[in-house]
Amino acid sequence: MECRIIGISILHVRENKDAKALLRKCMKGVHIGSPSTKNLEKDLLSLSAEARIKKILTLYHPKVSLACSFSKEDLLIADMILNINPEARIFAIDTLKLPKETLECAEDFSIHSNCTIEWYKPTTGEVEQLVKEWGEDTYRDSIEARKACCNARKLQPLSRAIEGLDIWITGLRRGQGDTRTTLSVFTPASGNDLAKLNPLFDWTIEEVDAEIKKRNIPINTLYESGYTSIGCDPCTKAVSSGEGIRDGRWWWENSDTKECGLHQ
Ligand code: SF4
Repeated sequence: MECRIIGISILHVRENKDAKALLRKCMKGVHIGSPSTKNLEKDLLSLSAEARIKKILTLYHPKVSLACSFSKEDLLIADMILNINPEARIFAIDTLKLPKETLECAEDFSIHSNCTIEWYKPTTGEVEQLVKEWGEDTYRDSIEARKACCNARKLQPLSRAIEGLDIWITGLRRGQGDTRTTLSVFTPASGNDLAKLNPLFDWTIEEVDAEIKKRNIPINTLYESGYTSIGCDPCTKAVSSGEGIRDGRWWWENSDTKECGLHQ
């Protein structure tokens, strides 16, 4: 790979036509902007999860952030990214419907890792508009009502969280259910959707558990009560043995609708 270093005094470049022309000449043929993602997926596939994260942080920090729901996967990735770069960014969305155990877990992890989580939540106006259009807590009345709630409480805050980012990191895995079986390590940007790194896409839950234990990461205590995927309090329940990891999420819906819009 060819590496070019350009030295130029930028004093008064904004006003100085000669300096501008010189800068244009120096930069001829140099790509400015986000790194090409053409071969990124191929490169990332051959790396370990930590090396995948390191590569993306090197390319994109500070325009990359982990979306953390305090699932086992997200906590493991948070631990990995903070070990690589203590300044790495992590954001979380408080839908105002989270179980108290999740908020306690967030607090425990912040203390454990000495990190600051960037929190986003719906505005009063967004919640008022939701209640006005759909009524209070109507998420089980229809898929439309549930998606309207997810939109107001998750997607609107998410749009603010990812503003200015080039890429976000997720804890998605193929083994998490029917809607995620074709997941890859890297999802390129498409339309309004930001590019995603899914560093654990090919990990099993057993591998996640073993790594969490090895690193002594504090996890959500709801896992001890039979929860295998944890979202908002009214839309999550524990699962029985033999049920799928995400069967406790929106359990009254069919498995093919079990996404909130964050990862579609
Ligand atoms: S998971 Fe349930 S409570 Fe949370 S935003 Fe979606 S519908 Fe609303």
